[in-house]
Amino acid sequence: MTQRFGFQVHATDGKARTGTISTPRGEIRTPAFMPVGTAATVKAMMPESVRATGADILLGNTYHLMLRPTAERIAALGGLHRFMNWERPILTDSGGFQVMSLSSLRKLTEEGVRFSSHIDGSKHMLTPERSMEIQKLLGSDIVMCFDECPALPATDDVVAKSMRMSMRWAQRSRDAFGDRPGHALFGIMQGGVTRDLREESAEALKSIGFDGYAVGGLAVGEGQEAMFSVLDYAPGFLPEDKPRYLMGVGKPDDIVGAVERGIDMMDCVLPSRSGRTGQAWTRRGQVNIKNQRHQDDPRPLDEHCTCPACRNYSRAYLHHVFRAQEIISSMLLTWHNLHYYQELMQGLRDAIFENRLQSFVADFHAERAQGDIEPL
Ligand SMILES: [Zn+2]
Repeated sequence: MTQRFGFQVHATDGKARTGTISTPRGEIRTPAFMPVGTAATVKAMMPESVRATGADILLGNTYHLMLRPTAERIAALGGLHRFMNWERPILTDSGGFQVMSLSSLRKLTEEGVRFSSHIDGSKHMLTPERSMEIQKLLGSDIVMCFDECPALPATDDVVAKSMRMSMRWAQRSRDAFGDRPGHALFGIMQGGVTRDLREESAEALKSIGFDGYAVGGLAVGEGQEAMFSVLDYAPGFLPEDKPRYLMGVGKPDDIVGAVERGIDMMDCVLPSRSGRTGQAWTRRGQVNIKNQRHQDDPRPLDEHCTCPACRNYSRAYLHHVFRAQEIISSMLLTWHNLHYYQELMQGLRDAIFENRLQSFVADFHAERAQGDIEPL
């Protein structure tokens, strides 16, 4: 097995690519969807179950783990992989996004962000250097630069100032990360929905040099149309021989659209979070299992799905356990959703490899347009 981080593109179809990211902890097939394990667990799932859905890599959250149980404690216990019993690759975010969305009493300066924990009010400081230190303590395979991302809509002036500070932080992150063979550091492009700022950000990152590049600052409320309009050009500003990661995306049709536009990696809490609120994602759109119409339905959620929820249980059962607030409801629906997402990624990878992405995407939209299964 390789001891270095690497990326190889096997095939392209239009702007879409399929390839392999190599790490000492295993390979990641791209385009890849990364389930989110916020607090060192993908909620309601055992790690081996997450693997069984087809996931090659998980995402962990710096902000949550630094507050509880702390990065130092995880390091003393052998690192995040051992701590959570997931030996395959882990990507950690920098904490920048969540400190801005979850913490209180924030003070943002050139140095970093001072804030109070949303858990117990304790005071903390995150800087590019501290974020690199935490992600090293966790033992993350793919480390993200510490950045700042203004909420959209924002004026060009606000977006530009924020982006330029993030680029200075990217240089500080690079310097603090140092040389760690087998571990990767990704830069994060900012610039909102403004093409010139996106290009300026990409140029700044490329001159520093990273192992991969993320498109940040999207999926923050701008809507799919605005997101796709940025993705129509932004991936083209990034090097072709490095992975491109779209952070925090998304719904199945967001994922398909992003892959069509040249994105290689994505993460989102959506499949796991929806699983806990009774929402299932299927080939034929979203199903709300708490809906009364499922209570006598002996059919599975999706007759073509091979996940345990669809193989062994009826809609009536899933409806019942959700209504009765049984824990197995979250387990089964989360499993199904993660399985559906990974199956979609496999379908995209195969289609790109076989140069038939366009017809795959047409079928994807046609199937969803049919709506959920016909009445009994
Ligand atoms: Zn299923």
